[in-house]
Amino acid sequence: MGGTMQKSDRIKAEVSLRAIADAAGTVWDLKKSRPAKGDWWGSCPLHGEATASFHVVEPAGTGGVFKCFGCHKGGSVIDFTMEHLGLDFVEAMRRLADDAGISGEISEERQRDLERQRQKAKDKAEREAQRQAETGHRIALQIWRRASTRRRPYTGSAKDVVTSVLPRYLKARGVRLAAIGGIPGTLRIAPMLDHRENGGAVVHSGPAMVAAIGRGKLLGVHRTWITAKGRASHSDGRKIAKQWIGRTGALMGQPCVLTAPSPSVVVGEGIETTLAAYSSLVSAGQVQWSAEAALSRGAITGPSQYAGQLWTPRPGVEEVLILGEGSSKHPAEARQLYEGAAARLRAMGLRVRLTVPHGRWDLDLDFADVALMEILKGVVHGHD
Ligand SMILES: [Zn+2]
Repeated sequence: MGGTMQKSDRIKAEVSLRAIADAAGTVWDLKKSRPAKGDWWGSCPLHGEATASFHVVEPAGTGGVFKCFGCHKGGSVIDFTMEHLGLDFVEAMRRLADDAGISGEISEERQRDLERQRQKAKDKAEREAQRQAETGHRIALQIWRRASTRRRPYTGSAKDVVTSVLPRYLKARGVRLAAIGGIPGTLRIAPMLDHRENGGAVVHSGPAMVAAIGRGKLLGVHRTWITAKGRASHSDGRKIAKQWIGRTGALMGQPCVLTAPSPSVVVGEGIETTLAAYSSLVSAGQVQWSAEAALSRGAITGPSQYAGQLWTPRPGVEEVLILGEGSSKHPAEARQLYEGAAARLRAMGLRVRLTVPHGRWDLDLDFADVALMEILKGVVHGHD
């Protein structure tokens, strides 16, 4: 680095954003916050609110940054002060420097000292990230090993009643299991899995579909809490959110592989939608396809531009069928994102087709919904 340290950098490094927000009237939510880690949640002084959507990260006690999930403001202690007191950059900086007793000049020695501290904090953060990744991976392996594979026919025993939830759930989501030789080996059922909100209290316990993430190597698991009829819900009707756990930093862009590889691959966001579409294709005699679930829309379309976080087919693939999903609220945006994904893959020399249920971007449907409708139509007309 070297060079002179900007006064603004010194303010950002030395002033505690938490203390400034405290003085501005933030009420900290100590249940949600983890003070020992410098992770703070509170009410936002920038917009009137009773909930704690204002997030400050300040592990070293100074040098914090904030993000408000209510008003979407965020940044450094200078950004906060500008916003809160309606000052411009120079005025906000002067105010903070005066309060903290920071003068304009800074000695070489002090600068080296700060640089050392910063490097130390960075190393510590990297070690912490590494540790978290390893812990996540260990837990994922544990969940995977404890989850059950089920290949034998069901006998109606108490255990079978639980494990049969998975095939019943998948059928309810429009997957034609008979056409594809049963449940893929990368999907298992955990008969009783806890769902914790933000790593805190257990808010639901029940059967979950556990999906292996990664090609050839288990990097993590994806969990969907289910019943025989559909997704499991909270008592107020909200669906239990899907969760990922594993080697943090290596999961994004990695798929759940649903079949053996082939040169033609169908990819969708969700496991159910991809399996529903894939099993429909196989039922219709299109047996050349293989299938992968990208596990998030962002992994297919971005906004990340970083190749490592985007779903990319394995070597040997020549053709990709993307299963798009429309949006009744933002149809143009949904279309633009998926067309961007198709362009990205075409630029890699692949033949790419993009499809969306009923050819419409303004419907909140995925292929699991469509396949289910087709199956229901089949039942109504008396054939399967
Ligand atoms: Zn706010």
